[in-house]
Amino acid sequence: MPKAANKADKNDAKTAPIKSDVIIVGAGVPGALCALILAQDGLKITVIEAAPYPEPQTPKKGARRDAEDDLTTALQSGRTVALMERACDSLGRFGVMAGVSALAAPLRSLRIIDDSYWPATDAAGAGRKSSTIDEIFHAHEIGQEQFGYNIPLDPLRRHMLDLLAEHDAVTLLCGAVIGEIAFKSPQNPSAATMRLKGGQTCVAPLVIGADGRGSAVREAAGIELHSAAYDAAAITCLLDHTQDHDGTSTEFHRPSGPFTLVPLQGKRSSLVWVDRADRVAQFMALPPAALRDAIQERTRGILGRVELMTKPQSWPLINARAACLTAPRCALLAEAAHVVSPIGAQGMNLSLRDVEDLTDTVRDAAYNGLDIGSAAVLEGYARKRKADMAVRGVGIDAFHRGVSTDNPFIHRVRRSGLAAISACSPLRLALMREGLSPRSRHG
Ligand SMILES: Cc1cc2nc3c(=O)[nH]c(=O)nc-3n(C[C@H](O)[C@H](O)[C@H](O)COP(=O)(O)OP(=O)(O)OC[C@H]3O[C@@H](n4cnc5c(N)ncnc54)[C@H](O)[C@@H]3O)c2cc1C
Repeated sequence: MPKAANKADKNDAKTAPIKSDVIIVGAGVPGALCALILAQDGLKITVIEAAPYPEPQTPKKGARRDAEDDLTTALQSGRTVALMERACDSLGRFGVMAGVSALAAPLRSLRIIDDSYWPATDAAGAGRKSSTIDEIFHAHEIGQEQFGYNIPLDPLRRHMLDLLAEHDAVTLLCGAVIGEIAFKSPQNPSAATMRLKGGQTCVAPLVIGADGRGSAVREAAGIELHSAAYDAAAITCLLDHTQDHDGTSTEFHRPSGPFTLVPLQGKRSSLVWVDRADRVAQFMALPPAALRDAIQERTRGILGRVELMTKPQSWPLINARAACLTAPRCALLAEAAHVVSPIGAQGMNLSLRDVEDLTDTVRDAAYNGLDIGSAAVLEGYARKRKADMAVRGVGIDAFHRGVSTDNPFIHRVRRSGLAAISACSPLRLALMREGLSPRSRHG
């Protein structure tokens, strides 16, 4: 365990308040990256994470230890995240990618197969495979080796916690539960005060809520969440297969939602299968072999025989947005601020752009001797995020509805759109740059 991992234990209830420049609540990937960047900028950071510091993962008993076993062990938790080049660059600048590079799989191509009419559905029973649209987009078309990487989420988070725990400017409190937060107190108007259950107090001019969709910081700051549930859920799991994926991520577009296979190291892929909520509940109730067969059938054999590597998990899908990003001495980022459908793999990418904009804002303010938690400074962050959040939020929602509907009209529009994109080279390249590899500052 890294040297500072047990800081939480050292800070018992009787110690003096922990004073820092910024308190970050939530050490998911965005919260942890935010802490690493601001600590690198010379600020003192307190990170409060509800989950305990993760135990080291141990390989299954009797297993022969080699690189393959290490990879299998690292993949046990079953969730991965596809990150575009810009997000990987941000993580790379702080030594994060180096720690997970052996687990990250490059995403060199994206194949979209719209086989909604498969298998035969017409009265004569004749196949209608001819109406399948099968389009492939390569990263080299836009001058890149890959669009990004698919990375197992738990090892990534774990590695980031290790980096935080070792950083002299970071106090990492894992397994900590927030009690009361006073963003404005007459005794100390220039700082927020947070009391943890157990009695420890933390004080800082700025509190960043990176504590996910159920954000306690957002609630304490009185910021409303506008939220709508889709009638959809996602099944995720990791698969072993007998054929190579060749670095190609494949999305099958079907009336009730896309079925996406994302490459992992070796002959493995992660599955994100979106379907109607009631159908997902039925699939999740199947015995493992029957679920494997249902998945096998839906892959159309492009990966050979598939086997489940991890226990499938299901995720209800929502679209949510905080009414605003800031309140006095408080800023929200990532899912505390916005939750988008996993279709299109944009959520974390969007969240890491929040981190870029917030850390730029705080760094500039600190450099110029301004109060980093003041309304004027935080307003700058909200302004920077406005366009990207609005465009992506609406775009991802529209995309989700467009690819998860059995409405025949929308279905035809979607298929015509895909055909038009593939036929028109400039449009195709523009969409690839914008959608698959957004490198521009705000988009
Ligand atoms: C099925 C699925 C697949 C996805 N695939 C992709 C993808 O391929 N690419 C992509 O870009 N995005 C993807 N996403 C979205 C991505 O996972 C999220 O955008 C991202 O995890 C959000 O990070 P977060 O830190 O806001 O939330 P979380 O990852 O939930 O982290 C929040 C952290 O805060 C902690 N916390 C919560 N409450 C408290 C509290 N009160 N006090 C202290 N700590 C607290 C939690 O323990 C946790 O560590 C996917 C999402 C889903 C559901």
